[in-house]
Amino acid sequence: MEQDDMQAFAAEVRAFLDAHAAKAPDPAALTWGEGDDSMAYFSAEPPEAERLRVDEARQWQRTRYENGFGWITGPAQYGGRELTPVHDMLYDAIESAYEVPDTGTIGVVGLGMIGPTILAHAQPHLKDRWLPAMYSGDAIACQLFSEPGAGSDLAGLETRAVRDGDGWILNGQKVWTSVAQHSQIGVALTRTDPDAPKHRGITAFLVPMDTPGVEVRPLRQMTGGADFNEVFLTDVRIPDDHRLGEVHGGWTVALTTLMNERATVGNEGAGPASAALSPDRLAALMRATWTWDDRALRGRLAELLADAMATDHLNARAMRKLRAGVAPGPEMSVSKLMYGQNLTKAAHFISDVLGPRLIADTGQWGTYAWSELLLATPALRILGGTEEIMKNILAERVLGLPKDPAIDSRSPFRELRNGGTR
Ligand SMILES: Cc1cc2nc3c(=O)[nH]c(=O)nc-3n(C[C@H](O)[C@H](O)[C@H](O)COP(=O)(O)OP(=O)(O)OC[C@H]3O[C@@H](n4cnc5c(N)ncnc54)[C@H](O)[C@@H]3O)c2cc1C
Repeated sequence: MEQDDMQAFAAEVRAFLDAHAAKAPDPAALTWGEGDDSMAYFSAEPPEAERLRVDEARQWQRTRYENGFGWITGPAQYGGRELTPVHDMLYDAIESAYEVPDTGTIGVVGLGMIGPTILAHAQPHLKDRWLPAMYSGDAIACQLFSEPGAGSDLAGLETRAVRDGDGWILNGQKVWTSVAQHSQIGVALTRTDPDAPKHRGITAFLVPMDTPGVEVRPLRQMTGGADFNEVFLTDVRIPDDHRLGEVHGGWTVALTTLMNERATVGNEGAGPASAALSPDRLAALMRATWTWDDRALRGRLAELLADAMATDHLNARAMRKLRAGVAPGPEMSVSKLMYGQNLTKAAHFISDVLGPRLIADTGQWGTYAWSELLLATPALRILGGTEEIMKNILAERVLGLPKDPAIDSRSPFRELRNGGTR
């Protein structure tokens, strides 16, 4: 019965995609020297080209939404289909064989993390206003969490919100805010009670990004683009009905976002990792650079591919748990850790295969292009929780090792300088 349901859904997805998109070339049929050799993870385009790309992504999201695939797991009330995460994954798997615009700008943070947070914690008028807008591609949302002094130790955030009649006045600085330059809304964590322990004095707000006092400044990356921003909040007035969750209850709201971040980041890591670790592409690269006969390199390639397969199986296990209605456990942290480590090993391997061709563009197809991915690798080891934080989670929750002493979680925030972790 369940199998029939999945087959019917898959047929529906294929019919939709056949009608609206072209089939992508089979990656296994890679012909060295033909087609686009870009391996970029972050954009490095001029602003006009980036705007065009975002418009295409919005348009494609609208097409999905109008055809019942914009929010596969979401409530019907907001345009969702009320299907399972497995239907969602099946859709993604089928769509990956078609040439469609990259909707990462809209999807990763906004639809993957902020949408579920608004659904769980916002007042009805905000859900009505923003959820259909987001899932139909009209509105983009960003995550205003990290600050210069609060990343892994997110609960150490210092942006203040102070009561002002029927609203709040926000002051502070956020950093690393992906897609803020394209966003209509953001979810901000603020400190509302500095006398409470750090996790208990936080309140979350939905911030319309056109509110006076919100200033978005791009951060230029070493890959050339500017995907992240600093966001300065100066006397930003937010009505109380834009609060998410309870006053001082923002940590619960943050946990909803972070739980969804871990799940999204698992998939996030999979994209660039599978592009980098495609056996066909790596074997073709070795042949093109005359390194195929190097037995030591071939051994490292085999090791890389074995690790990538193990990671994929681990992810598949988490997906099977989801299918059975069980929340995935620490395997999400292991696969996040593994994707980062696999990519790092791949980066070293590719550097050894390419040598100077990685840093000087000789014009040879499929060589210098790797530099775009390699420069993005460190970011993929940080976003969604650094490798050290993933290791801490595994040490404590899987291996049962003692927790770090966290006296800072009990003391009033005002008395702290630096603290514990997310
Ligand atoms: C690509 C990318 C996109 C991002 N997008 C967003 C976004 O949209 N919105 C947003 O709010 N944030 C975003 N971030 C920020 C991200 O969440 C933080 O960078 C991350 O949580 C780490 O925080 P930090 O940079 O302050 O590093 P820190 O927390 O200062 O860590 C510095 C180093 O210390 C280590 N460390 C810290 N604490 C411990 C500990 N307890 N035990 C062992 N080691 C520790 C870390 O592992 C790291 O190596 C993004 C980051 C990246 C790379």
